[in-house]
Amino acid sequence: MGLLRKYFLPNAYVSSIHNLDWNLLAQSGVKGVITDLDNTLVGWDESEPTEEVRNWFRKLNELNITVTIVSNNNEARVARFCESLDVDYIFQAQKPRGKSFQKAIDQMKISSNDIVVIGDQMLTDVFGGNRRDLYTIMVVPVKQTDGLITKFNRMIERRLLNYFKRKGYIKWEE
Ligand SMILES: [Mg+2]
Repeated sequence: MGLLRKYFLPNAYVSSIHNLDWNLLAQSGVKGVITDLDNTLVGWDESEPTEEVRNWFRKLNELNITVTIVSNNNEARVARFCESLDVDYIFQAQKPRGKSFQKAIDQMKISSNDIVVIGDQMLTDVFGGNRRDLYTIMVVPVKQTDGLITKFNRMIERRLLNYFKRKGYIKWEE
């Protein structure tokens, strides 16, 4: 019970990366972002960043917030997406295993207290971030379609979400 909460409950839940107040986050000391790629920044089947996503990176750059993309997807997909963004990335991250999160923290040279993790999946992004004691922000997936493994994870995720909702830990905005 307490463990479910500790590991799977995100610190914040928003509908999209674009609905986060980065001025406020920067003011409150956020210096680094570890973000998922697929269905967090763009749909899993979109190979290039959208203009909106480019602006998002520009905004964070202006605020001196360093970003690392940590993705479980393969090198070709992640490298192509990041090519035009000038952003560091880690592919085949094996989230929720914590190693890649630690690698990202070390590379950014930012205290883990000043880093937020963003992702659309409770069982990989939130679980992985919480295990490392990072502040986790869960977003609604950009696209509702998923691969087979993700579909299975989503099933468990829905049960956890319902449980948290019942307990009043998460308040749905939609
Ligand atoms: Mg994802």
